[in-house]
Amino acid sequence: MIAAWELAPPATDTAPAGRPAVLDAVAGRLVVDPSPRELAAAGAVRPRANGVARPAAPPRTTDGQEITLLCNVASATETRLGLAAGAAGVGLLRTEIPFTGAAGWPSEAEHRSALDPVLGLLAGRTAVVRLLDFTGDKIPPFLAGREPGLAPLLSHPRALADQLRAVLRSGRDTELSVMVPMVRTVTELAAVRAALAEAAAGTGAPLPALGMMVEVAATAVAAATFTGACDFFSVGTNDLTSEVLGLDRADPAMSPALAADPRVLALIATVATAAQAAGVGLSVCGDAAADPAVLPLLIGLGIRRFSVGAARLPQVAEWIAAADSAACATQASRALAAAGLVPGQSPRVGS
Ligand code: PEP
Ligand code: MG
Repeated sequence: MIAAWELAPPATDTAPAGRPAVLDAVAGRLVVDPSPRELAAAGAVRPRANGVARPAAPPRTTDGQEITLLCNVASATETRLGLAAGAAGVGLLRTEIPFTGAAGWPSEAEHRSALDPVLGLLAGRTAVVRLLDFTGDKIPPFLAGREPGLAPLLSHPRALADQLRAVLRSGRDTELSVMVPMVRTVTELAAVRAALAEAAAGTGAPLPALGMMVEVAATAVAAATFTGACDFFSVGTNDLTSEVLGLDRADPAMSPALAADPRVLALIATVATAAQAAGVGLSVCGDAAADPAVLPLLIGLGIRRFSVGAARLPQVAEWIAAADSAACATQASRALAAAGLVPGQSPRVGS
């Protein structure tokens, strides 16, 4: 998925050929003839040659709260980048990206070809592998016109089994979890859990943890009803914000910072409260976790695990190291109270 804020800016079309330039894909900014300082800043996030350095110590807030920082990836290159920048592992592997132009459901062998180079870098580390998320601008030609989201995968048990077997085999040396995108019902999770058990039995692999993305507003509102059906939640602020605020993800007005809107924040608070009450793991893997205005609010809601774009890791670690968790909690409570919202209250979606 290329989010609006990740699109190359129009300047890429008009920049003169042959001149040095730095493209900040997160800010959507092209700097032609960068200054030595801008060049150095861009170079600072380049992966090292082997790119698999052991993670640095996890970042801590000023008052000593440890935060687990993982990276979002879709390729081995991004994984090397994230690990070299200190990620403890991968908190979101977008498995659909290599297949957005596919002519049919990927076979087990095709999944293995895409997964092996990434998961091979993650021996002994966290690897959260998300099932194919053919939604939005990631719908391949063979699914054009079909209902987007999880439904096509679940209605094609062979495709699901092929992916699960490949994930289990490619991820055998990792701290593996399987994550389900766009979850709307407990029944969907139960179907994946049953298929996962079957794939594990068939491959002789241990059963990995099963997590779910919380990125649909109705799912976030009802988070407490999902706690018995999964091992962890990961909040997808990109889709959640888009739905709650009624903005298409490709809309130039969309931005990770909009997750600070109290209507979105109240839903994240609802998810956090449900996870904490049930002892279910919780992370945020949407781009809002790498936004300077939203990250403190998420810390303030008690969230201690984030997965961010690989290139954003050093910056996010710095922000964490400068944050005080008590001050963050006050900030989050004020943000919710100012809008007259409390955790558990449903916002008006799309208004
Ligand atoms: C999200 O929606 O926040 C998310 C992480 O998933 P994706 O961006 O891949 O849709
Ligand atoms: Mg999403």
